[in-house]
Amino acid sequence: MERGTRLIHTGSEGDPHTGAVSTPIYQNVIFSQPDVYAPGEWEYSRLGNPTRAALEKSIAVLEGGRYGFAFASGMAAIAAAFLMFGSGDHVLVSRDVYGGTFGLAHRLLPRYGIQVQFVDATDPDAVRSAIQAHTRAIFIETPSNPLMKITDLPAIAALAKEHGLLTMADNTFLTPYLQRPLEAGIDIVIHSATKYLGGHSDCLAGLVVTDDPKLAREFHHLQVSLGAVLGPQDSWIIARGLKTLKVRLEQQQQTAGRLAEWLLTRPEITTVYYPGLAAHEGREIHFRQADGPGAMLAFRLPDEEKARLFVNRLRLPVIASSLGAVESIVSMPVLMSHTSLPEEMQRELTLDRCLVRYSVGLEDFSDLQADLEQALVGS
Ligand SMILES: *Cc1c(COP(=O)(O)O)cnc(C)c1O
Repeated sequence: MERGTRLIHTGSEGDPHTGAVSTPIYQNVIFSQPDVYAPGEWEYSRLGNPTRAALEKSIAVLEGGRYGFAFASGMAAIAAAFLMFGSGDHVLVSRDVYGGTFGLAHRLLPRYGIQVQFVDATDPDAVRSAIQAHTRAIFIETPSNPLMKITDLPAIAALAKEHGLLTMADNTFLTPYLQRPLEAGIDIVIHSATKYLGGHSDCLAGLVVTDDPKLAREFHHLQVSLGAVLGPQDSWIIARGLKTLKVRLEQQQQTAGRLAEWLLTRPEITTVYYPGLAAHEGREIHFRQADGPGAMLAFRLPDEEKARLFVNRLRLPVIASSLGAVESIVSMPVLMSHTSLPEEMQRELTLDRCLVRYSVGLEDFSDLQADLEQALVGS
């Protein structure tokens, strides 16, 4: 099946009891046992719930793995993944990651004796030289947030295998519709389903996929022990979002490409970051491992005052720290999603008050362009 068809015909394919075409919302915690010695297929909703299971099956099939797990948020999924490790373990984390992931890795994990080292994952040699005897895993994100830096998935997967490390990739920006890290040899894929998969800024959710039965047992244990599971109602909302992922993302991607090209021609903009642009660093690597450039872009204005005026003058996108929704969303990462980075790290990564992130929504190109133009001319 092609990618679009798979979005419709996997997992939540309805209810065998009634013929309902969408998997019903089993708003239910307990399932009665036929025999006190033998639980049925379902027992208690933290351990498993049919609506959640339908979503977990869908995301697993879409990512090309056998096992899916749904969590209460993207951060709950990421935290569970890191809690596979313990005192004395060393993990490598790409320094270009979501601010929440950075905060977890920087401030929380060391409390549990997990040593974290931030690395430039776009440079496999830098990753190789950071590996120590007690290194257990590497966590990456590509394209990265917010500068759209590209990490070579097969290269990192091969390097990790050579050293017996686990690989984890946050695939939120592209979704399995555009990129499937398991196919590149990555062990664990993680999503904030709050973004493109749900797609409507109305539901927090996190998803994990693996094809390894041992890792799957570990994640099941983490999921039921930590208890941050996705509720049945929210599982249903994300499963519904998945069905329109193709048309949303294709349209958003097309508009994003046109906007990126247009922004390049504007004298008020100094740099545009978008993997679809000919000059984007790592573009070639990106298109070896992904089916498209996605719909996230970032760009830079010459100074702080101009950037602030510009963002405040925009009328169509909402100013918010999220992405991947039907409405366009604009943010300034250094003030919003990336505040947990220490100032020196922000400087090193060139996250400053001139940098604007733009998540392209489903509005018409001409309206978004006109809006950007009026904001640029006035700032
Ligand atoms: C939003 C986001 C997260 C965190 O997800 P929540 O659902 O908000 O907990 C993690 N990674 C990336 C890339 C994100 O954009």
